[in-house]
Amino acid sequence: MSDRFYITTAIDYSNGEPHLGHAYEKIGADCVARYRRLRGQHVSFVIGMDEHGQKVAQSAEEQGTEPQAWVDDIAARFQTAWRELSISNTDFIRTTETRHRRTVEELFRRIRQAGHISEGVYEGYYCVGCEAFKLEKDLVDGLCPIHPTRPISWVKEPNYFFAVGRFRRALLDLYDARPEFVQPTAKLNEVRNVVSDWADDQTISVSRSRVPWGIPWPDDPSHVVYVWFEALINYLSATGYPDPAFADMWPADMHVIGPDIVRFHAALWPAMLMAAGLEPPRQVWCHGWITTQGARFSKSAGVRITLRDIIDRHGPDALRYFVLREVPWNADGNFSWDRFDVRYTAELADGYGNLASRVLAMVGRYLQGRIPDRAEPTTLDAAGDEIVAAYRTAMDRHLLHEGADLTWKLVDRANGFVEERAPWTLAKEGRTGELEEALAALARALARITLLASPFMPTKTQSIWEALGLPGTVADVPWGYVERPPTGGAASRKPPPLFPKDERES
Ligand SMILES: [Zn+2]
Repeated sequence: MSDRFYITTAIDYSNGEPHLGHAYEKIGADCVARYRRLRGQHVSFVIGMDEHGQKVAQSAEEQGTEPQAWVDDIAARFQTAWRELSISNTDFIRTTETRHRRTVEELFRRIRQAGHISEGVYEGYYCVGCEAFKLEKDLVDGLCPIHPTRPISWVKEPNYFFAVGRFRRALLDLYDARPEFVQPTAKLNEVRNVVSDWADDQTISVSRSRVPWGIPWPDDPSHVVYVWFEALINYLSATGYPDPAFADMWPADMHVIGPDIVRFHAALWPAMLMAAGLEPPRQVWCHGWITTQGARFSKSAGVRITLRDIIDRHGPDALRYFVLREVPWNADGNFSWDRFDVRYTAELADGYGNLASRVLAMVGRYLQGRIPDRAEPTTLDAAGDEIVAAYRTAMDRHLLHEGADLTWKLVDRANGFVEERAPWTLAKEGRTGELEEALAALARALARITLLASPFMPTKTQSIWEALGLPGTVADVPWGYVERPPTGGAASRKPPPLFPKDERES
């Protein structure tokens, strides 16, 4: 394992409020980032906003405001939401920033210098909704199938072209050599087909008269850089490219995206990088969609459940846990209030929360808050060893739902161990040696669970870590603590209320 890890999410389009779909992507990527830190890697975690394009300009105009003021306001709303959800991004990039424009200009300068950009005339359909050129075969009844209410326009304009076809062979070879390049693997076939069907040249600029809100084409202010090309470059802008130090971060280890934009990330983007003589990213990870009653969380699907409602139900950590446990990180899944309430009660309040308060209360009551320094391995330790190994395998492969599932197997095992050993009986009968052994094992298991759960619930786990009287924070302890929790001799105390049950569950 290398000592550094660079992970990104797609940048969000500045055209509305953050919803659960946006949040799911950030929460999952954050869980990966936190797990990697727990394993000792130095993590760069970049998220941000996609702020150019015609739709942004139109929305600003409808609101009677300037595009920059509009995107400033939206960026602030997204950042507030990500702070509340404890997203541990190390950077927040916005495509209207000067540093992004500088990287875009430099990347295009290099691609042009290498002879992969030419001037020509483009003639064809353009959908404003998609901000994309369309082919006849993409249309249904003469309209964009994604935006059937918007008229499609026919444009003919001088344009700049990128010779993508020259990278077809190199990309297909890349997919063959590194099947893990796109996950899940089924998506790789889709990308292969896209690349095989590529025209030799793709337009990469748009007339400024049609889309004034964008980055001017280097040396030709009558054009702006096509918004898709420009947006992808944010992953490189965040590294400081072309400053030489960019190589400390690049190539990215993982681009986390929704499956609808896989062709841009797994085909176009590596082609652009190859054209500039740069390495492609190491992996493009497609998460699935969160749906509710069959509809995706998105602005246009009209889902009325707001992110505010969902956070307020059981708090930010519970939301993080729920979506990562309920929705596989590599497939679609469903959001429902019922499932959220059931998991909250069974797994958080009655599972982990109950274990923590019971163990800490017994250490307080029977042992004056001092966790015994006893190291006899028990059946619970053996179960923990097995689960930690399986957790590591799952999480190294980014199977977050499996990591959560395994962690809660240890929660169940530990709650079972409490019943088996019945420390209250050992205390009553004065069997001090056995009592100490049982509570020492339970404290170790609780510390392990707390670290394994920390990428999922950074705030609640931190308060349990502190109640165990352990040093450092869950975000910065060494992985060795998971293998051998340093609980012996620690001074514990009663935890704050963890997962309160309330009226809304009925
Ligand atoms: Zn469209």
